[in-house]
Amino acid sequence: MSEIPHEQANDAIRQADILIIGGGLSGAMLAVQLLRLPGRRSVLVIEPRAELGRGEAYSAVELGHTLNGNAARMSVDPDSADDLTQWLTAHIAAGGWPESDQQSVPVSELFPPRGLFGEYVQQRLAEAQVAGAANGSSVEHVRAEVVDLENLADGVRLTLSDGQRLRGTYAVLATGMFPAARTPQAHSSGLNAAALDPWDVAAMRQLDPQSTVLIIGSGLTMVDAVVSLEQAGHRGPIEVFSRHGLLPHVRRQPPAWADFLGEDPSIRTPRQLVRELRRHCRDAIARGIDWQAPLDTVRVHIPRLWSQATDLQRRQFVRHVRPWWESHHHRSPPLSAELVARLHGEGRLRIQAASFKGLEPSSGDELGIRIRRRGEPCECVVHGVALINSSGIEYDWRRVARPLPRQLLARGLVQPGPLALGIAATADGAVIGADGQVASRLFAMGPPLRGMWWESTAVTDVALQAKALARRLTQPL
Ligand SMILES: Cc1cc2nc3c(=O)[nH]c(=O)nc-3n(C[C@H](O)[C@H](O)[C@H](O)COP(=O)(O)OP(=O)(O)OC[C@H]3O[C@@H](n4cnc5c(N)ncnc54)[C@H](O)[C@@H]3O)c2cc1C
Repeated sequence: MSEIPHEQANDAIRQADILIIGGGLSGAMLAVQLLRLPGRRSVLVIEPRAELGRGEAYSAVELGHTLNGNAARMSVDPDSADDLTQWLTAHIAAGGWPESDQQSVPVSELFPPRGLFGEYVQQRLAEAQVAGAANGSSVEHVRAEVVDLENLADGVRLTLSDGQRLRGTYAVLATGMFPAARTPQAHSSGLNAAALDPWDVAAMRQLDPQSTVLIIGSGLTMVDAVVSLEQAGHRGPIEVFSRHGLLPHVRRQPPAWADFLGEDPSIRTPRQLVRELRRHCRDAIARGIDWQAPLDTVRVHIPRLWSQATDLQRRQFVRHVRPWWESHHHRSPPLSAELVARLHGEGRLRIQAASFKGLEPSSGDELGIRIRRRGEPCECVVHGVALINSSGIEYDWRRVARPLPRQLLARGLVQPGPLALGIAATADGAVIGADGQVASRLFAMGPPLRGMWWESTAVTDVALQAKALARRLTQPL
């Protein structure tokens, strides 16, 4: 990995112990954990958004865009599973979120709006800042995009979008997820320009309420898009197209189930996993127990199973198990699922197994997309007044059109992770360069580590990684 000698680095204007690149949930939680540890340190979080702790997910403003797990599952504190429940209890008691009484369940079973969850994260950050200040530690938000990163002999140097430069002893890539819609591939087909933002209710209010809306993708972003359309007063047909035509299941609160993977370490391959899981689900159903009970025991083992697997096994998982895993594991919050089920039942929302092939030139107020339905040899064109792209995330950094991923790849400071999902890193998050060397000062957490752990995105993944990485960064070099 190329390093710039120390003396060339004197033009850096600001300096900190730790530079966190990205101030979404990952960046904010890492800052919290760093502030909680003993010792004195300075942290700069570089984030173009106005607020830390939100990112795309928790900048949501609609109450209907909720977490996909209930409060008891979404603590950001790995040492206190009740942390969000306690915060929500106090928040509701103080008059916040009055609509929560519509769910008539205990606070731990509420599915909070994601915007409110962002407020919780911000409050935990503010509290940690006060506690850290007592030790002389500080966290500051630098509002810009990082466009380049260089290794120095004794640290790293960042270049920001406003030309500013920062130096740090360590840098952490907490850059989150890059939406598929903003990739060059999608852009070249015009999809990016033609599609509505799934969360932009104001833009949806401009549509003719009786018109047909087309949605590509049928996962949780589609569910959010349907909530947005409903909120915007849309009452026309919604046509959803996705490769497998699978809808996310609804999240329930299943009882505990034996940890069969923990008890039997011989289960390692995707085939063994699916066979055993099916057996346990059948067993549960036969005993009148929700199939979600055995499924929910699998989650904690996924990072281990994925990191132990060969590339061939990982490919088999992605090819054969992934669609099923996504629809069964990444489940829908109950109120959103109810809405989708109602519209489906009324025939207003249709889901078709079809692949998106491209955009047709638009005519008048309508646009057309070319699709190929599953099992059919020919493509056909379907029309609507609007298109929403909810086809997911671009994990392959080589296809992400942002300056920092491009520069890091061009400088050889990162290499693609397994199956080109995110970037390669060690178990403790140290980034691996193109030459195979492990960086001593550059780390990553959260979605960029998708290829290392498969599940590296959810609130609980990020919270655990933040705690472990904070410890690692505060150890002597
Ligand atoms: C719409 C949506 C809903 C979700 N809902 C749930 C849920 O209900 N439950 C759950 O467990 N998980 C959910 N997730 C997963 C969620 O992404 C993670 O929980 C979490 O947001 C990941 O945090 P992050 O900080 O790593 O990434 P992000 O939230 O994506 O934040 C990354 C930040 O980095 C910044 N950034 C990127 N590049 C640079 C750069 N070069 N310089 C400076 N800043 C940069 C971006 O501006 C962004 O703010 C959801 C995700 C999305 C997108």
